[in-house]
Amino acid sequence: MATMAGMASRVYADHAATAPMLPAAREAWVAASQHVGNPSSLHSPGRHARRLVEEARERIAGALRVRPSAVVFTAGGTESDNLAIKGLYWARHRDNGAQRILLSAVEHHAVLDPVQWLVDDQGAKAQWLTVDSLGRVVTDDIAEALAHGDVALCTVMWANNEVGTVQPVAEIAALCRAAGVPFHTDAVQALGHLPMDLTAVGASAVTISSHKVGGPFGAGALIVDPTATLTPVLHGGGQEREVRSGTLDAPAVSAFAVAVEHAVTGQEERARHLAALRLDLVSAITQVVPDAVLNGDPGVGDDRRLPGNVHMSFPGCEGDLLLMLLDAAGVDCSTGSACTAGIPEPSHVLLAMGVDPATSRSSLRFSLGENSTQHDVDAIAAALPAAVDRAKRAGSPNLRKL
Ligand code: PLP
Repeated sequence: MATMAGMASRVYADHAATAPMLPAAREAWVAASQHVGNPSSLHSPGRHARRLVEEARERIAGALRVRPSAVVFTAGGTESDNLAIKGLYWARHRDNGAQRILLSAVEHHAVLDPVQWLVDDQGAKAQWLTVDSLGRVVTDDIAEALAHGDVALCTVMWANNEVGTVQPVAEIAALCRAAGVPFHTDAVQALGHLPMDLTAVGASAVTISSHKVGGPFGAGALIVDPTATLTPVLHGGGQEREVRSGTLDAPAVSAFAVAVEHAVTGQEERARHLAALRLDLVSAITQVVPDAVLNGDPGVGDDRRLPGNVHMSFPGCEGDLLLMLLDAAGVDCSTGSACTAGIPEPSHVLLAMGVDPATSRSSLRFSLGENSTQHDVDAIAAALPAAVDRAKRAGSPNLRKL
């Protein structure tokens, strides 16, 4: 069985997929799981479990500087995105008949797919917000779209999971607020990596996920502004303010709270460490593979790119093959894009940025985390030339077809 300790000789550069669980989060999970008790039960063990949940809510609210009642626990980022998109849409549509959903073309599938379902099944209309060549939303388009008045909601992610581009969420939130339109942002990749002042941004709903910040899988939250109205997606016991049903996982949310506090308190130092490593990695890669191309915002010295994100295209290579060759060499990374029926699909994010399909399929994402080191950078740079050489020689049937 592979553990992080057992993988010490490997280089883990896929923190955007999931981050190693923090020892303190694991301890909190183990301590909480020693106790029996449903947080909704009225007896002493139930009240103990309830106390753990409410303490976790207060700790997360404290770290994010929002009211505890704003924190709605869910089973992760995907559920939070679904609750935000469907919940805000249904409430607004019922209220004033609005049908249009504004969304960026670079959203995660946890946002894209619920919107597509609302379009296919519920009569919603999607309006795609274009992005520039760095993957950043063009805010003029939002102002223009909002002027039409039949917008049910707008959703734009805080930072992109593939290319790391940070979106102007404060500006977008202000435009939506002025137009009286609910604004949701998926902050799954931003938490712990970027400064996040939720009060200043003032979004209607913000998605966060536990396993991306060193907490356990299967926990997340939607941070909901008190003025926002959401129609529930899950019906049942109404445990989370009637907005979300399901028995709360007290051990998981306790550990999630530890991870969120850690993510927020260490953010500045982590970002500095990661940004320095990222710049080293980009320059090491371009030294050993001179035709490699960095995608997204160069983001030197500011908050325009996730600090630990390196996303590069390797012309003439097929990304999935390169990934497997690096895997065999002990380096874990990602292509970032989906594979349908075994055929690598070009990334919708890169396509929206104007990258051609072949280049898109030749891309890899290396995402660094707080335990990443200079040794990891050196090991990636050492493994790449042979892998790139083999991938180029193997070619790709899919690329050859183009
Ligand atoms: N949103 C973004 C931007 C993500 O990167 C991810 C996971 O990769 C999700 C949502 C889904 O989160 P979860 O894995 O907690 O369901």
